[in-house]
Order: sequence, then C-alpha cells, then structure tokens
Amino acid sequence: MNILTFDIEDWYHLLDVKATKDEQDWESFEVRIHKNTDRILDLLIAQKKKATFFCLGWVAKQYPELVKKISTSGFEVASHSYSHQLAYTLSPDQFRSDLKKSIDTIEQLTGKKVTIFRAPGFSFTNKNIWVFDILIEAGITTDSSIFPGSRGHGGFSGLTNNSPFQIKTASGTIKELPINLTKILNLSIAFSGGGYFRLLPYSLLRYLFRKTPYIMTYFHPRDFDKDQPVVPGLPIHRKFKSYFGLKHSFNKFEHILSEFEFNDIEAAISRIDWHNVNVHDFSTST
Ligand SMILES: [Zn+2]
Repeated sequence: MNILTFDIEDWYHLLDVKATKDEQDWESFEVRIHKNTDRILDLLIAQKKKATFFCLGWVAKQYPELVKKISTSGFEVASHSYSHQLAYTLSPDQFRSDLKKSIDTIEQLTGKKVTIFRAPGFSFTNKNIWVFDILIEAGITTDSSIFPGSRGHGGFSGLTNNSPFQIKTASGTIKELPINLTKILNLSIAFSGGGYFRLLPYSLLRYLFRKTPYIMTYFHPRDFDKDQPVVPGLPIHRKFKSYFGLKHSFNKFEHILSEFEFNDIEAAISRIDWHNVNVHDFSTST
C-alpha cells in the first residue's frame, strides 16, 4: 500500500535553523508556497490521485485561500502543527496549545474535522510519548509522526515497525502510520520523500516502490522547487540534503505517480485490518 502525503509549508520552514526558527521572521521571506503547491494540485487533479495534506496552522491563517483550495479540490487536510516547532522542544502545555490552535484554524476554514496529525521533523521520541495522550484528547485519531529509526530530529529508534500499528495510552488508542525505512548498504533510509527521494536515481526508486509493501510518502512543495533561495546559515551537509537533486525531482515524482497506485490516509485507514496490527502499549510508561 502506498500513501501519498504532503507537508504544506514554505521553502524556509527548515528545522533547527536560527534564521528561520521563529514565526515573527517568516513574513520577511519570499512567498513561494502558492505556485509550488498549485503545481502539485494540478498534477494530482490531472492524474486523478488522492492525497493527504498536512498543513501548518500558520499557513492556514496566513494564506486561507490556499488551504481552502486544497480542501475544495477534494483533498484531505490534516494538521502539521501551528508554529512548526520540534515537539520534543515543547512542554506538554505548549504542545497542547499549538495543536489546538492549528486544529481550530484549519477547521474554521474547511468546515471539516481535523483527525490526522504529523509532527514537524517527525519529532516524537521515546522521551515525549505524552504527545499521544494530548493528540487523543484533541480528537486526533491517526498520527503519522513516527520515524522508526534514529535521525537528525528525533526519531523513534525503539520502534522497528515498517507498517501501521496502534498506540495505546491512558487516554485511549491512536492509529499510527509511520514512515517506512529500507536498508541500503547497511543504512536505514527513508526513500519515500525528502533528501533520499531526490538523491536516488529513478530506476532504484522504482525498484524500491515495487518491492516495499507499505510506503508512506512525505513530500513538501519546496522539494520540487529548483529556483528556491538557500536558507541562510545552513551547515554544508544540510545544504546538500536540502537542495541536491531539485532539478529532476518533479519529473521523478510525476513518474512515480503515474506508475503506482496511491491512497490518501482516509482510504488507507479503511483498507488496513486494524485488529491484526501490532499494539504498542505506552499507558504504563511515563
Ligand atoms: Zn514540516
């Protein structure tokens, strides 16, 4: 099963960069999100593909017409937090109010309930598992924030699932659709979005898409924008990771889209047999 998702944020919404960390700085940057998102929407509509869009609450407030357009075009709108901060840097109260603000802002625009969430930078770790209680209390029924391995921002290295599972907490149960990792040359990589999607040749991507039973993609509008400015103050390895392969990425994306079937999260949830997935019980942990 392949699931198609996008995190709707602009080119400067990179994490852990001083120059672009705070909301008050964002309005000074060039706005590229409209044409970059429109390009994705046009392609999906032309190819009749469904997808889930994890929108920043801040984007919904700043550019309401963009998020409305995503929704009225028939796509599922989910939350990617409000202020795009790493979850493990927030207190439970800060996380709760940011989440609520994002849900309220998006729901007011679309008129539809927000029930799906993805944390910025997959920043759920085994040190902040309280996030799941807060998600459940806020009405979130499905999460897609778990990166089951180690990475720059968080990652949940204790979990090795490469398939959907459920998380049980004191507040209830939540469905988890994690990122899928694949071993290449002893490296665990996420090829279905971000830097590796841009880095790997199409023939290898196609091979991986063919042989992987569960794929959670995660693209951003900036992943296909070869003319975007460079975020100031990025270390060299992150420059490479953020900007390598931009020239051909949209082309690769078009090919993948036309060659494979994709579901949005709603369709994926209805196809999964939730009685037969693993359950991780976090209710006894602190
Ligand atoms: Zn993000």
